[in-house]
Amino acid sequence: MQPDLDFLTPAYVREFEPYVPSKPDAELKKLYGCTRLYRLNNNENALGPPPAAREAIRNFPSFRGALYPSGDSYYLRHEIAARHGLHPDQIIVGNGANEVIFSVIKAFCTTGDNIITADRTFAVYEWVATFSGIMAKLIPLKKEGFDDEEMFRAVDSRTKIIFLCNPNNPTGSYWGTERLTAFLTAAGGRRIVVVDEAYCEYVEAADFPDGMKLIADFPNLVVFRTFSKMYGLGGLRIGYLAGAPEVVDMIRRTCLVYSVNGIAQEAALAALRDDADHIRRSRNLVRSSRAYLREELGKMDLPVITGEGNFLVVRLPGSDTLAYRRLMKEGVMIRPMTSFRYPNHIRVTLAQPEAMEAFVAALKRLLSGKVAG
Ligand SMILES: *Cc1c(COP(=O)(O)O)cnc(C)c1O
Repeated sequence: MQPDLDFLTPAYVREFEPYVPSKPDAELKKLYGCTRLYRLNNNENALGPPPAAREAIRNFPSFRGALYPSGDSYYLRHEIAARHGLHPDQIIVGNGANEVIFSVIKAFCTTGDNIITADRTFAVYEWVATFSGIMAKLIPLKKEGFDDEEMFRAVDSRTKIIFLCNPNNPTGSYWGTERLTAFLTAAGGRRIVVVDEAYCEYVEAADFPDGMKLIADFPNLVVFRTFSKMYGLGGLRIGYLAGAPEVVDMIRRTCLVYSVNGIAQEAALAALRDDADHIRRSRNLVRSSRAYLREELGKMDLPVITGEGNFLVVRLPGSDTLAYRRLMKEGVMIRPMTSFRYPNHIRVTLAQPEAMEAFVAALKRLLSGKVAG
C-alpha cells in the first residue's frame, strides 16, 4: 500500500525544493579527478579550531560517549553569559545556529504569520519559514545591504520576526550602531528582530554594533552567534542565541533537549576561554587574503563584492555553476551563488595564501578557456 502523500503532506512541504548537500570530499575528488581539494565554499576557518579547543576534543573521555550531555549546555551558557554581562538563562545553545533559527520561528510563528528578511542573505531563515508554512517576505538588498525603509514598509499585523544578518553573508555589508538601534526602536514590541552575528568576530569596522550589549535596552532583540566560523567548530555543530529573559523563556519551550553533544560543549567552552590569539591570527589571515584577492581579481577586471567577514563575492563573465565544475577539476571548491539569487557570481572563503593562489590560478585558466568543461 502506497502512502497517500498528497493527503499526508502539507502543500508547503510538498512544494519545497529540498537542499542538496555536497558529497564528502573523498567522493568529490574521485568525481572531479583532483588529488587535493581546497574547501572555499563554506566560510570555514582555514586555521581550524583554536589550540585549546583542539586539546578539549583530544581529551574528551571516551567513556562519556555513553553519557547524555548537559541538556542545556550548563557550563557553556554560564561562560557566555559572564563574558557579556547577561544571565545564563538569557542564552540558548543549539545544534549550530541553524537549530536556533528553527526554535525562534517555532516559538513565535503560526499559520498566517510572516517573517521578513532580505532576498540575498543567509537562506536558512527563508527555508525554515517556508517549509513550516510561514510566509517569508524577501526585501531586495539596496546597494548590497539590508534596506531598512523597505523592510519597514513590508511589516504588517502578522509580521512576527525580522531577520537581519550583520555583517551580511554573502555581501559583507553591515549596519552600524545608529542604524540598528533606530530599527530596533521602530520595530517596537510586536515583532522580534533577530540579528545574526555569525561573522562578528571577524569584523574590524569601528562602528560595528555588539548585539549582546544592546539586549538590555532592546527586549525585542534576539542575537545569534555560532562556533562554526571564527571558532572553527563547524563540524561539531554548535551555536547560540541570546535575548531578554522573557523572550528566551518562550523560545526555550520549543527547543529539543540534548541536541548539543558533549564534545561540542567542551570544545566551545575551551575555544571561548582562550580566543584572543586565535581571533588575531584569523583576522590577519582574512585581511591579507582579502587584499590579495582584490588585487588579483582587479587585474582580471572581475567585479568584487566584499566588506566584513571571511568571504568575498566575485562576478564572473559566465555561469557560476559551470565555473564550480571547472574549478572543482582543479581542486578548488567555491560556492556558486545562483541559489543566493546572484547568478554568475561565486563566493570564496578567505583562507590561507596557498589556497588563494590556487584559486586565482584556476580562475585564470578558466577565463582563458584552458579548462575543458
Ligand atoms: C554559517 C552561518 C550560520 C551558522 O551556522 P551553524 O548552524 O552554526 O553552523 C548562521 N548564519 C550565517 C549567516 C552563517 O553564514
